[in-house]
Amino acid sequence: MANSWGSLLQDEQQLKELAQQAVDRALAEGVLLRTSQEPSSSDVVSYAPFTLFPSLVPSALLEQAYAVQMDFNLLVDAVSQDAAFLEQTLSSTIKRDSFTAHLFDIHKQVLKEGIAQTVFLGLNRSDYMFQRNADGSSALKQIEINTISASFGGLASRTPAVHRHVLNALSKTKEAANILSNNPSKGLALGIAKAWELYGSANALVLLIAQEKERNIFDQRAIENELLARKIHVIRRRFEDVSEKGSLDHNRKLFMDGQEIAVVYFRDGYMPSQYGQQNWEARLLLERSCAVKCPDIATQLAGTKKVQQQLSRAGVLEVLLPGQPEAVARLRATFAGLYSLDMGEEGDQAIKEALAAPSRFVLKPQREGGGNNLYGDDMVQALERLKDSEERASYTLMEKIEPEPFGNCLLRPGSPVRVVQCVSELGIFGVYVRQGKTLVMNKHVGHLLRTKAIEHADGGVAAGVAVLDNPYPV
Ligand code: ADP
Ligand code: MG
Repeated sequence: MANSWGSLLQDEQQLKELAQQAVDRALAEGVLLRTSQEPSSSDVVSYAPFTLFPSLVPSALLEQAYAVQMDFNLLVDAVSQDAAFLEQTLSSTIKRDSFTAHLFDIHKQVLKEGIAQTVFLGLNRSDYMFQRNADGSSALKQIEINTISASFGGLASRTPAVHRHVLNALSKTKEAANILSNNPSKGLALGIAKAWELYGSANALVLLIAQEKERNIFDQRAIENELLARKIHVIRRRFEDVSEKGSLDHNRKLFMDGQEIAVVYFRDGYMPSQYGQQNWEARLLLERSCAVKCPDIATQLAGTKKVQQQLSRAGVLEVLLPGQPEAVARLRATFAGLYSLDMGEEGDQAIKEALAAPSRFVLKPQREGGGNNLYGDDMVQALERLKDSEERASYTLMEKIEPEPFGNCLLRPGSPVRVVQCVSELGIFGVYVRQGKTLVMNKHVGHLLRTKAIEHADGGVAAGVAVLDNPYPV
């Protein structure tokens, strides 16, 4: 695949001028983040980092990623409803990982009491990298699926205008027209709106569980704005507010500040540092309620790396999606090598292979949010330390995807404009709504391309490593 903008990357003066235009256009389009100095206020904002040029992506892989998204929606939904599968899959992990154990504990409590929720809403994003094959072609390989707080659907709708601007400024109007339009936040909002409607209470609100310090506020507002346009009101509250002012009535309807809540949309609650005892209690209260949680606790667990690894085992997809061999084949084609580190021969063998060829693997704890995985020497040290301990079961080992690097400029506030070697990660947003046993919505609603310099093994946009991008289909 041709993989860069070639001669355009050579002219330093032109790159600088283009970058200035691109940044101003990004600001005008609302590709914004709050600053790290003032993460709780919108008084001072800056642009979200992005690439100067859209990065080339084979259209066949883009189509493949879109085509498998509804299958992933079905799969996540199936896993979330299969308590026995979740219990069995996570049993070794929860012995050693207290965060997953805490989530699982809430899951068990809700099951024991009986699930009050009747409408289920999934907003997820399945992420991929493009594995370079020996023959020079590329293959779509899933990195992970995010079932909670999948972000950048809002800002991703605003970056196409920026890249079109850059190409138009270079008089590349034909190329500019090839940049795909994209509006994930609209689709995500439609999912929330459908769940709200099925909940069936005209005055009920959407409760967005927010962090105190939120740099990515404009991404979230994009969804809120879409909902308000449909006359659905959103209130933003922290877990702490829920614990102080949230309550359930005798039917387990959820009330916040005295107002009924139809849908709870989490943009917090996916990592250990986001929970103290008070927040865990608030989470339990929300989960016990009949409000539609996005995601409910079982769906959050369905997004763990341990579940991802178990799904890649022979025969597992067939059981979860019976009678759907085509969906199973589409899903499996995107799976990279995933290895359990549970105590026993299989785990021993995986560790041996990783120690023999560290550059071919990634070691992942059960965490979200970027910056948690271990590579190279760090991975070797961790494996040496873990290999005789049951703690190793709280990790999964994954084949490392090696995409073909290409040149692009990563534009960030305060950084000089220069060409660096990069790799990209493609995400597809999926939405589904289920009422009881009936699936009433299942779709893909847009994409996100993130690009980072090759010197960073890990990390997303929020972690300060990757930047926003658009696929340029080739
Ligand atoms: P998180 O939940 O923290 O986002 P990910 O599994 O998405 O965890 O990993 C974080 C980042 O690490 C990814 O965005 C990607 O850049 C890199 N990464 C993860 N898995 C692999 C892999 N198998 N091969 C290459 N890079 C990977
Ligand atoms: Mg990720």
